[in-house]
Formats: sequence, C-alpha cells, structure tokens
Amino acid sequence: MTQTQYDVVIVGGGMVGATLACALNASPATQNLSVLIIDAQPQSDTSKAAPHPSFDSRSTALSAASRSILERAGLWHAVQASACPIEAIQVSDKGRLGTTKLAREDYGVPALGYVVENAAFGAALSTQLKAARHCEFLAPARVTAATPVGGGMRVAVEGEGADTREVTAKLLVVAEGGRSPLCAQLGIARSQHDYGQHALIANVGLTQPHNGVAYERFTATGPLAMLPLIAADSAQRSSLVWTLDASEAQDAAALDDAALLERLQQAFGWRLGRLGRIGARAIYPLSLQVAQEQVRPHLVLLGNVAHTLHPVAGQGMNLSLRDIEALVETLATSTLELGSMTMLTRYLQAREADQNLMIGVTDGLTKLFSSDAQAKVWLRKAGLLSLDLIPALKTRFGARAMGFE
Ligand SMILES: Cc1cc2nc3c(=O)[nH]c(=O)nc-3n(C[C@H](O)[C@H](O)[C@H](O)COP(=O)(O)OP(=O)(O)OC[C@H]3O[C@@H](n4cnc5c(N)ncnc54)[C@H](O)[C@@H]3O)c2cc1C
Repeated sequence: MTQTQYDVVIVGGGMVGATLACALNASPATQNLSVLIIDAQPQSDTSKAAPHPSFDSRSTALSAASRSILERAGLWHAVQASACPIEAIQVSDKGRLGTTKLAREDYGVPALGYVVENAAFGAALSTQLKAARHCEFLAPARVTAATPVGGGMRVAVEGEGADTREVTAKLLVVAEGGRSPLCAQLGIARSQHDYGQHALIANVGLTQPHNGVAYERFTATGPLAMLPLIAADSAQRSSLVWTLDASEAQDAAALDDAALLERLQQAFGWRLGRLGRIGARAIYPLSLQVAQEQVRPHLVLLGNVAHTLHPVAGQGMNLSLRDIEALVETLATSTLELGSMTMLTRYLQAREADQNLMIGVTDGLTKLFSSDAQAKVWLRKAGLLSLDLIPALKTRFGARAMGFE
C-alpha cells in the first residue's frame, strides 16, 4: 500500500469486489480513479495450493447478458476458455411425469448462458488486477471499522501481525460477503430469512457427454442442479448444486464417495447415465439476506452484503454484475462529487426494480419448489406445462433467464 487516500476503497476482493475493480479499470472514464481493494484472504492466483473461499470448487452459471458485462469489463477473454456454453436447460420434477426443455436454437442465441468454475474466474480476476495501473490489492488484511469523515469514509485496516493502519476513500464499497461485521458496526440492518436448507456442491465425473445441457430437477428436499463444465483432461464433468435440509446435508457429508454417488444417482435419475465419480464437496447454509440501506454518503454496499439469494435460479452473481455495471456507469457519467448521496441515490434508483424482482423471484421459486404440498405440486406442474405449451411464455422466461429482461 503506497498511499493513505484513495478515490475508491473496496472492502472484499471476492467475486464482486474484484470484478468491480476490473470494471472500473476497463472504463475510460473511471480508469484513472485510484482504487484500493482490501481482502481478508491472500489474493487468489492460478496455483491450486490455497484456494480463496470465494474461488473454491463452486461454479457459477452466468447469463448471456453477464457475458456482455464481463466483455465490457475486459474479463471475458480470460474466462472464456474455462466457460462451458449452456446449449439447453432441462427442468423436471422428481417422481412426476413431464420435463420442460429450453434450447438455444429456440432463441437464436449462441448459448443460453455459461458455466464458469469459480477458481478459473478468480485466476482471471487476479491476472487482470495485477495489470491494472491505478489499482492496489492489500491482502491478507481485514477492515475492522469504517467512519464518515468530511467528503469520504475512513477505514481501519488490520494487517498480518495485527498492525493497524487507516486509509480514506471518497467512495467506500463494502463487498465483504454475506457475513458483514462492517454493516453491524455501521448500524446497517440486514433482514435475514433462514431457508433451513443447505447446498451441497461438488464436481461430478460423467460416463457420457453432457452435451451442454444444464439440468434442474426438483426433489422433495429442494432443487438439484447439474451444470455442464468444460471437460478436464478429456473427462466429462458437471457441477452439482444439491439442496438438502440440514439433517440430510449432515448425513450426506458423512457418506463415503461411493454411497454419496449412489444417493445422488437415485435423486437425479439416469439422464446423464451412470454417474462416474464425485470430487471434493462443500456445504453452504442457504438464506435470504437483504440490507435495509444500500447507500449512504460516500458508502455503497455490493454483492452478498446487499442481497444474498438462494442459488435456486443461479442469480446472485448475475444480479451483482448488473449492479456493478450500473455503478460504474453512474461514476463514469456523473459530474457530481464522487460518492455524493445524489450520485449514489441515482445508482440505487436505477437498480431497485431489478433487485426487488430477483429477490422476489428466487424466494418464490425456492418456496414453490421445496414443498410437496399438493397445491404447490399442481402449481409447479401447471407452470412447467404452460412453459411447454405457450411459446410466448417460454420466450419471455428464456429472455429473463438469459438476463435480457
Ligand atoms: C452454492 C452456491 C451456488 C451459487 N451459484 C450461482 C450461480 O450459478 N450463478 C450466480 O449468479 N450466482 C450464484 N451464486 C451466488 C454467488 O456465489 C454470489 O453472488 C457471489 O459469490 C457473491 O460474491 P461476494 O463477492 O459478494 O461475496 P464473497 O464471495 O463472500 O466475497 C467476500 C470477500 O470479502 C472478504 N472480506 C470479508 N470481510 C472482510 C473484511 N472485514 N475486510 C476485508 N475483506 C473482507 C472475504 O475474504 C471475501 O473475499 C451461488 C451461491 C452459492 C452459495
């Protein structure tokens, strides 16, 4: 760290904070802003030795619209080689007849979306940030407090060995993920609804090609997704996101690989033939969290701090990418003082409708698809059937899934 005053300080160099820094660096109108990213974990790199938790064995389904945002942020070329195009999405309900299939040909697009491994995304971000001229990365270091000062925010930063320093920012971006002690310290309330569910994630080796099909299967415990991945050493793989209730997640975690694979095969069925093997697993508790304030003078919340969503529809990062683009656009086009409340209110007004819609849609889908109550079963059946029978509805649904509406 070479200075103590920055235009923008970003707390959290995870998926969202690091992408924002790249987007600021890529836009001609913001690339001269001095940016400091502070992250509690060592910076992610291409070595697999100590994976950063944001860039673990998870994968992220990105919409076609998110691809365009990453192109504008100068990141897509680095991510592309490890991004598996989604050719089709197949939705089904376990134990009930009928599936709905959305195919890229129906929409005349090269892909419905892309699945990117978080580790590859992290490596691309890291490479890009190292080349950014006005961006510094301070890690591992933790921001312990933030205080308003005239024309900005002052943050206390604790580095390794507990040495504490202070830096000031004209705009402080809090992107510190779902657990945010900084919000608590600033007195920013976040509503929290615990779904009582956990997501078990792992990469699954296949014995037959996935052909770019993403499967979303609704089971009694909640949705189970198998997302297509780029082959590794010519082995076909899909990324599993399996929603389980708390006790089932604990049981599953205790199973050996063969037993877990057997249980997965029963829940998922044979659409991908016999499942070959299962890689390292991780479990995430699932909740909906929404910050009650996203902007204050010289302060903005982004990513999971602002809104943590259920991964049912793979929308959390996609939504944050649209937030990032809108924030960079506001900074690039405004002549107002950097971080002023008028500037940040404009940003929030541009984003509120999309955020509220996505929060409502993912919460509604989670409740609809995590229940065996007869009324909800019928609603699901009717919904899937309508998608198949009413082309206009399918077009609309697809456009929304691709992030174009
Ligand atoms: C199982 C699962 C599957 C998902 N699948 C999808 C998907 O397919 N598509 C999609 O769009 N989204 C998906 N999501 C959502 C997506 O992962 C999140 O939207 C995204 O990770 C949010 O990133 P973030 O940067 O806000 O938070 P994080 O990734 O948690 O990063 C926060 C960063 O802040 C740092 N930090 C925290 N506190 C401090 C501090 N005080 N000082 C300094 N640094 C600090 C941490 O070290 C960390 O690096 C999924 C989520 C889950 C759980």
